[in-house]
Amino acid sequence: MPKKPTQPKKAEEKEKPVVTGQEVPVKKGKGPPELLRGFRDVLPEEQGRWAMARDKVRALAEAYSFDRIELPILERADLFQRTLGKQTDVIEKEMYAFEDPSGDLVAMRPEATASVARAYVNHGMLNLPQPVKLWYEGPMFRHDRPQAGRFRQFNQFGFESLGVPDPIVDAQLILIASRIFQELGVDVTIQINSIGTPESRQSYLAELTSYFRPHRNKLSEDDKRRLQKNPLRLLDSKDPALAELLGGAPQIVDWLDEDSKQHFMKVLEYLDEVGVTYQLNPHLVRGLDYYTRTVFEIWEAGDEGERSQNALGGGGRYDGLVELIGGRPTPACGFAIGMERIVKAMADRNVNPEPRQKPLIFFAQLGDAARRVGLRLFEEFRAAGIPVAEAFGKNALKTQLDVANKLDVSYALLLGQKEVLDGTIIVRDMESGAQEIVDSAKIVSIMQRKLSAPEGVSRPSQDVVQ
Ligand code: AMP
Repeated sequence: MPKKPTQPKKAEEKEKPVVTGQEVPVKKGKGPPELLRGFRDVLPEEQGRWAMARDKVRALAEAYSFDRIELPILERADLFQRTLGKQTDVIEKEMYAFEDPSGDLVAMRPEATASVARAYVNHGMLNLPQPVKLWYEGPMFRHDRPQAGRFRQFNQFGFESLGVPDPIVDAQLILIASRIFQELGVDVTIQINSIGTPESRQSYLAELTSYFRPHRNKLSEDDKRRLQKNPLRLLDSKDPALAELLGGAPQIVDWLDEDSKQHFMKVLEYLDEVGVTYQLNPHLVRGLDYYTRTVFEIWEAGDEGERSQNALGGGGRYDGLVELIGGRPTPACGFAIGMERIVKAMADRNVNPEPRQKPLIFFAQLGDAARRVGLRLFEEFRAAGIPVAEAFGKNALKTQLDVANKLDVSYALLLGQKEVLDGTIIVRDMESGAQEIVDSAKIVSIMQRKLSAPEGVSRPSQDVVQ
């Protein structure tokens, strides 16, 4: 049958090239693919500290009644453009933003507070009892210059409290942030400042600009741009040449409106009440535009006095954010902490996880039938909560016993062809070398008894098969 001519596709139907799923040609002679710069694997040996930090965060979230929220990694780029501020580093140079196959401009989230606010609006959380207290954890992406403690994919967890303007909310969040570190054995100081409301900030910004303008020639190109577009950011300039000039700059706390001043005083009083120590830091402004009033950072103890580029975490009040993305005006406050930096601080202080429960029994098999029985026995031990080590992939008994010795187990179970046929199994005491042959159907309860016997007491041989 003659083939029907295929209709040429209309222009709008034309498929866009699909990048995903396309095979990338591998050039011969090249090594294995390398990690992207600023990206890293978290290897098994690092997992203990990560789990410790995560467990602590989860436990504190529960204790303070924060509910977990999981947010997508990809959002509409405009969510971040609208909220973080056009003149911020994150928006100007660090966003992983691209057009997706359906033509939407999307971004891999550089932070999650904007997503929390979006979810609050999308799901009508305004109608729930306030405050709505949420926490999250997951990877964030910023195309920043990689350096020690600074990655392009990093993990943050964050706590957010939406719906209540009271300064006690700010204080309790700061308290939680400091508890996390205290309970993980990392000494920190809280750096704190107030940047007032956007309205009260206007006259301060004018003052700040006229202070810096005569010194324009001392500023780096980046800082010149900041002076013009976002002078507040000059205050946390990392340029050492600016340190002296910054020392004499007008301080924002002197320009706060009366309500913001009262709010700030209350936050500090609450912190005093619960014994959280803090340092007033007039230069702390935080990088993003959505902050109002209280701003704070968590620094490793010993970093004070430096203009820390490696804060462990930070946060503040963001009373305008929900409105900015189209919700009703909603006061809110929160913080985010970097997992990589917590884990590094733990390692620096030799804070180590509890070692994993060590198996006390090793199963060694000889032959295929024994291996099959071993697979089943392993499951029975696991169901009874007794960890057993094995080397199912090895054949020679000597190799397997070498593994058992290395693992420093108390007992080895030896199963060969003969034992499978007899329904028995050999229990070898690894310290004395004594062996007994027991009923394999009862092996789990036999080992349970042996393991619960006080150390040094050898069990009577009532289990031995004659
Ligand atoms: P930010 O959202 O910039 O206030 O960051 C909050 C916390 O996230 C910081 O204090 C760091 O612990 C962590 N963090 C931010 N950016 C990075 C990065 N590029 N690499 C590693 N951790 C980061």
